[in-house]
Amino acid sequence: MKKLAFIKKSNGSHWVGDGFPVRNIFSYNDIAQEMSPFLMMDYAGPKEFPPTSKKLGVGSHPHRGFETVTIVYSGEVEHRDSTGAGGKIGPGDVQWMTAASGLVHEEFHGTEFAKKGGTFEMIQLWVNLPKKDKMVSPRYQEILNSQIPEIQLPENAGSVRVIAGEYANKVGPTNTFSPMNVWDVRLKAGSSLSLKVKEGDTTSFLILKGEVQLHSGEKVLPAELALMERAGEEFSFSAVEDSVVLFLNGTPLNEPIVGYGPFVMNSEAEIRQAFVDYQSGKMGKI
Ligand code: MN
Repeated sequence: MKKLAFIKKSNGSHWVGDGFPVRNIFSYNDIAQEMSPFLMMDYAGPKEFPPTSKKLGVGSHPHRGFETVTIVYSGEVEHRDSTGAGGKIGPGDVQWMTAASGLVHEEFHGTEFAKKGGTFEMIQLWVNLPKKDKMVSPRYQEILNSQIPEIQLPENAGSVRVIAGEYANKVGPTNTFSPMNVWDVRLKAGSSLSLKVKEGDTTSFLILKGEVQLHSGEKVLPAELALMERAGEEFSFSAVEDSVVLFLNGTPLNEPIVGYGPFVMNSEAEIRQAFVDYQSGKMGKI
């Protein structure tokens, strides 16, 4: 059986702009090699926002060298970028933005949501690109709830939504640059989920709600990320309470990771070049 490597707790809370009160779960400054191909995770909310006519969020800023993945659980996110892409996503929807060679974007609460107010909850996950793909052209995948296959688990145990990768022969709609699985898992109290993954891959899961217990006995609580050892293929966990789990699995890239602010490359020289290119307008503007 696959063993638990460790449980990663949040690095602490901060605001991203004035719209996203996040707990940083991990970043390229701590366990990005262990988590590869995943680079960073911010867990925003859940937080109640009163109705407002203000545009809450984060204005124009660049990215290069990776993908930003926004998964909305509650509320709405509006996005625009310098390639002309944009859109609004709500609960169950996902934005999978490939920054690659570079772009500039802005991220705000949806106008309708802001007007009404309510609970805001989302994950922003950064997914690294293989060295050979870091400078490809940017692209944008808007993945709506209705496009994401949802598999009901036997015995009314819950469900698995396949955002990327494959579960029970259902393939998720996302095109990725390296092999990975990103699943939104709901598990009912008392039910368990047994998984078989590829030996050597990164395997981890974040608890958003509830509480789960690994087959080996360790308990994992909200805003905690369990990282499994790479050895072994099979493991299972059970829900102590009704739980919402984000499952992340993928083949590690095994390439150098050098990150600074919104850029993640393979060397410091490439980071310096990213700043030069951004400042000279090569990543575009909104
Ligand atoms: Mn951004």
